[in-house]
Amino acid sequence: IIPTSPPRSNPNILVTGTPGTGKTTTAELIALATGLKKLTVGDLIKERNLHDGYDAEFDTFILNEDKVLDEMEDMMSDGGMCVDFHTCEMFPERWFDLIVVLRTTTENIYDRLEKRGYKQNKIEENLQCEIMQVVLEDALESYKPEIVMELSSNTVEEMEANVEKVLEFVQQFRQAH
Ligand code: ADP
Ligand code: MN
Repeated sequence: IIPTSPPRSNPNILVTGTPGTGKTTTAELIALATGLKKLTVGDLIKERNLHDGYDAEFDTFILNEDKVLDEMEDMMSDGGMCVDFHTCEMFPERWFDLIVVLRTTTENIYDRLEKRGYKQNKIEENLQCEIMQVVLEDALESYKPEIVMELSSNTVEEMEANVEKVLEFVQQFRQAH
């Protein structure tokens, strides 16, 4: 018999989307507005070496999913986390109460990633990812569709509106739990 854990009083939220859609910036603002704790998984991977080395062609770390999941398990167990990462299907479904998928036009993604100094092949890969809606479809396959919130993130105004929507969700969650 697996004992059911007590329901959490604060939600765990995942902010996901193609690189350049604004996950880290949005997660930061959500954390400020709600008091949830921000966890940028990419930073955690680098800080704690949760990878299997470096892929020079794509200028990226090779993810070690088991190490990342082990490291995060304790942080997620009590709720209250606002996590940002560019994929979502590797996490256990039970971790999250809301999945925010940020969407951005290819023009804006291009500009943001070029400013970040990404190489052309990496920009191209990420543009394809956004055009094919890879992250949205992964989210809808991995979580209950009713907890997946697709939000447009092209302007600062949209970002502020997105933070407001998530704040409303958090307030409702807290009232219900
Ligand atoms: P991600 O974490 O998804 O890769 P970031 O949060 O690092 O994206 O944002 C990438 C860049 O785009 C940053 O310079 C950020 O200020 C800008 N940006 C992100 N979201 C928006 C938005 N909704 N409107 C305008 N600029 C944005
Ligand atoms: Mn980021």
